[in-house]
Amino acid sequence: MADSKNKKNRCSFCGRSEDEVGFLITGMNGYICDSCSAQAYEITQEALGSAKNADGTAKLNLKELPKPKEIKSFLDQYVIGQDDAKRFLAVSVYNHYKRLLQKDNGDDVEIEKSNIIMVGSTGTGKTLLARTIAKLLHVPFTIVDATVLTEAGYVGEDIESILTRLLQVADYNVSEAEQGIVFIDEIDKIARKGDNPSITRDVSGEGVQQGLLKLLEGSVVNVPPQGGRKHPDQKMIPVNTKNILFVCGGAFDGIEKKIAQRLNTHVVGYNASHKVAQLDKNNMMQYISPQDLKSFGLIPEIIGRLPVLTYLNPLDRIALRAILTEPKNSIIKQYVKLFEMDKIKLEFDEEVFDYIVDKAIEYKLGARGLRSIVETIMMDAMFEIPSEAQKQFKVSLDYAKLQLEKANLSRL
Ligand code: ADP
Repeated sequence: MADSKNKKNRCSFCGRSEDEVGFLITGMNGYICDSCSAQAYEITQEALGSAKNADGTAKLNLKELPKPKEIKSFLDQYVIGQDDAKRFLAVSVYNHYKRLLQKDNGDDVEIEKSNIIMVGSTGTGKTLLARTIAKLLHVPFTIVDATVLTEAGYVGEDIESILTRLLQVADYNVSEAEQGIVFIDEIDKIARKGDNPSITRDVSGEGVQQGLLKLLEGSVVNVPPQGGRKHPDQKMIPVNTKNILFVCGGAFDGIEKKIAQRLNTHVVGYNASHKVAQLDKNNMMQYISPQDLKSFGLIPEIIGRLPVLTYLNPLDRIALRAILTEPKNSIIKQYVKLFEMDKIKLEFDEEVFDYIVDKAIEYKLGARGLRSIVETIMMDAMFEIPSEAQKQFKVSLDYAKLQLEKANLSRL
């Protein structure tokens, strides 16, 4: 309000004059200074419940968090099928939030974490599920590859480096990282080779599993902030893994045989009993149980620390066809967008999609192959058309066949 004596404007909240503050913002009937507006911002943030905790971690609020059904429908927009895996993931992530929000009300009930393991052939959507869920999360998330891990002292990454990535995404805010989620891909690659533990050390197998166990069960781990061993002088940061949720994924090639053996049959067998006859032999993965992981070479302690076991279905023709066009960022939508940026309308004849799927199945490439097939079909058009006046391009079945055959011939 204007000071009547010396005509100085004053903050209507703290009363200081314009000389005493950084600057004044003018309102309809008064003024607010910079420090009062900063305080007002903090008060509103707190009132809205999205303020940060004292340690700088984002305050979670159960009401704002996506419910399992919402998480699943979000996943549905990007990932085709895999309903079981989606449900397990959705519930686990939701419970992870609840665990972070639990208050100690003296009832001795402490929600413990349930790390997850997803088993499914390569290219069925494990990483895609993890990446998609990351888009929705309110906590730091990272994907690491188990294949690079070795025991301390060997060539490769130390187990602790898994947490380096998490620290980096959390901007080195340790408390925030300690609430994060880590997706460990290719967990099957650290399985013990063969059932006889050898006298020589199994660099890539059991030793790594033992190291991983420490992280999974919750302990304070010294993490190199820069990762790797290139910076031997770096000061380690202690990180408690008690509340970090671990989601593991692996193809476990050949595990179907172990499942079949357990179910007392063979994938292709003559003497199938009545019970076995009801099994869906094309998708043995759905019968997976923790024992099979043990037969595959994971140590029981690790299996015990990954109590939620789920599987991904192999992708059939219908799923592949859907993957091509249906997800929010499906391969075809991506090409249409690429052309759109040059103001060219790209269209496909429906039969082209079936043809692409046929080829992906024929070359045994699965979902991963869809992109390379589309890329091969589109390469010439992507090279030529942007320089031409053409504003429309339709991919016909003949054109697609021609392009693919040409590419195959040139590779011969
Ligand atoms: P992996 O199971 O080996 O981790 P990815 O998730 O990396 O497989 O899948 C490879 C690619 O195949 C993905 O980037 C995606 O384009 C496609 N894909 C695989 N499965 C699906 C699915 N269920 N829905 C949609 N796209 C999928």
